[in-house]
Amino acid sequence: GQCSAHCPVGAIYEKSEWEKAVAAINNPDVHTVVQIAPAVRVAIGEAFGLESGSLMTGQLYTALRRLGFDKIFDTNFAADLTIMEEGTEFIKRFTEEQESLPLITSCCPAWVDYMEKYSNDMIPHFSTCKSPQQMEGAMIKSYYAEKHNIDPKDIYVVSIMPCTAKKAEAQNCDDMFSTGCKDVDVVLTTREIARLIKMSGIDLPNLPESDVDSLLGTYSGAGTIFGVTGGVMEAALRTAVSKITGETLPKVEFEGPRGMEGVKEAELDVAGQKVRIAVAHGMANIETVLNTVRAAKAEGKELPYHFIEVMACRGGCIGGGGQPHGADDETRAKRTAGIYQDDEKSVVRCSHENPDILTAYKEYLGEPSSHKAHELLHRSYRNRPVYNK
Ligand code: SF4
Repeated sequence: GQCSAHCPVGAIYEKSEWEKAVAAINNPDVHTVVQIAPAVRVAIGEAFGLESGSLMTGQLYTALRRLGFDKIFDTNFAADLTIMEEGTEFIKRFTEEQESLPLITSCCPAWVDYMEKYSNDMIPHFSTCKSPQQMEGAMIKSYYAEKHNIDPKDIYVVSIMPCTAKKAEAQNCDDMFSTGCKDVDVVLTTREIARLIKMSGIDLPNLPESDVDSLLGTYSGAGTIFGVTGGVMEAALRTAVSKITGETLPKVEFEGPRGMEGVKEAELDVAGQKVRIAVAHGMANIETVLNTVRAAKAEGKELPYHFIEVMACRGGCIGGGGQPHGADDETRAKRTAGIYQDDEKSVVRCSHENPDILTAYKEYLGEPSSHKAHELLHRSYRNRPVYNK
């Protein structure tokens, strides 16, 4: 299917894949499960005339239920899961494998693609964690499928993402087929789901709110801030600092990773050890940070950073390529405020305190970085150089 985009003469069309999701919903033999990414909930309202940053989580769950999905889950749950895995990975590298530092986050597929092609000297520094989208898909087709006695081949997973690169990520390599079939079957952008909701005659802003379904839906405030630049770092710090010090954090907010500065740096004192972090958004800023690391390594100097968060889009996923068109910095600021509001109103603010995450480890995964966690939630990278013809 195709929908007209913004070309005045209709010569350019934006390809749309919502028909695949509708076909799955209409097939009685298929169990359809949907997940929504953090940044979608603060931007989709714009497509219905609402102010940027309006938090639409509960209305969106209702709309997806009315569209006919069998289960409504949330990518924010898997963001919490990512923190459990990546936090553990960081602590291990920091304490036992300093040569593999800095650890670089891996949840932005546009950046992963760029890295595999143009910056593959950084492969050893990449977190082996899959992105939340892929973790959620893998958990749906394993843990959820087994618990409900459904063949993963009969499950169709639809992700609603702020991001066009997520479409390519879902088939990036064999690791994205962890149960023998695709972890995520189709990816729809915020724009595509907004069109589908409108075409179905659903008035999103005036819907009653409803709850997410259990098992893979409940999320902490740390899970939701994945949608903004600095959010993955802050979420990781909430868990890693608490694990290293063995104490509950008196204050969960970390200001260092926040804000629209292209490169943000901070040094933290964690149990008497210095942890240096950097957060970069926008491709040029990412290269700047990596060049600082390369220079320090070449000169045999102390590492400038231990942990780096990278996001290809300005502002992070709230400014993603699949969001409603026309975002400027004012729009980005409002969407960002919506995300922090979602965090602040969460009762649980740290990933390792999300009760459903703890249950998933207890019942299924064992512990972070277990054999099973590696099979389902981690990935490898390839050197894919681009040759000039
Ligand atoms: Fe996608 Fe942009 Fe988010 Fe990267 S930063 S995951 S490209 S929306």
